[in-house]
Amino acid sequence: MIWKDFLNSLWHDWRGSGASEDRLESPSWRSHFLSSHGYSDDLTASPIANDPAMDMQASDNTTASNSTVDKKATDIATTSNPTVDELNELKHFRDGLRELTHRINESVRGTPPVPLVQNDFAILNKYLAVPSFTRRIVWDAGTLQMLESSQAVGWGNVMARIATAYAATLAHGELERFRICDNPDCKWMYYDGTRNRSKRYCDDKCCGNLMKVRRFRERAKGKSEDRSKD
Ligand SMILES: [Zn+2]
Repeated sequence: MIWKDFLNSLWHDWRGSGASEDRLESPSWRSHFLSSHGYSDDLTASPIANDPAMDMQASDNTTASNSTVDKKATDIATTSNPTVDELNELKHFRDGLRELTHRINESVRGTPPVPLVQNDFAILNKYLAVPSFTRRIVWDAGTLQMLESSQAVGWGNVMARIATAYAATLAHGELERFRICDNPDCKWMYYDGTRNRSKRYCDDKCCGNLMKVRRFRERAKGKSEDRSKD
């Protein structure tokens, strides 16, 4: 999912060191992000070979979790480097969508749940309103492909696609499936594609195990404190 990869460009160390990294600032992360979502180097010339609604149906289980992000992506090009203003806008947009995801989470799992209000969708609606998408079918040597592009150019085009993909997940998916990893240090955001909506961690082997060990230690500590009180 393009929106999931975009939201998690704000990386937090799931092991709890407190370290974090804004990967939107990293040229190699950006190159990897763009190429893995079908963009070529110059952004403007590349229509998108993907239906945003299809993004939602892709199983989230096979894509990267916080612990498996490829940090050594090859630098494919630097022509796609955003300007200072574009980078600021990308961060603003990402932080807005992260906030919306927090609000969705709060509305589903908060104690008590805090209902969503129209204003929560303001930043998403802003980016949905700008461009209109055009689609066309390309027939190439027996292969059919639907290409999509927006009238926005460069990074504006990318943000328009992210907004559309997020909105498609909202409209066709379930709010309960928008999740933030249960490891409070991790903050990884994802869409739970499991049948029974049971995916509590971005990665069971990493965050899941870490939290299991933490709970075990806390219980053991509680027991030894109880004993010392006797
Ligand atoms: Zn996690």
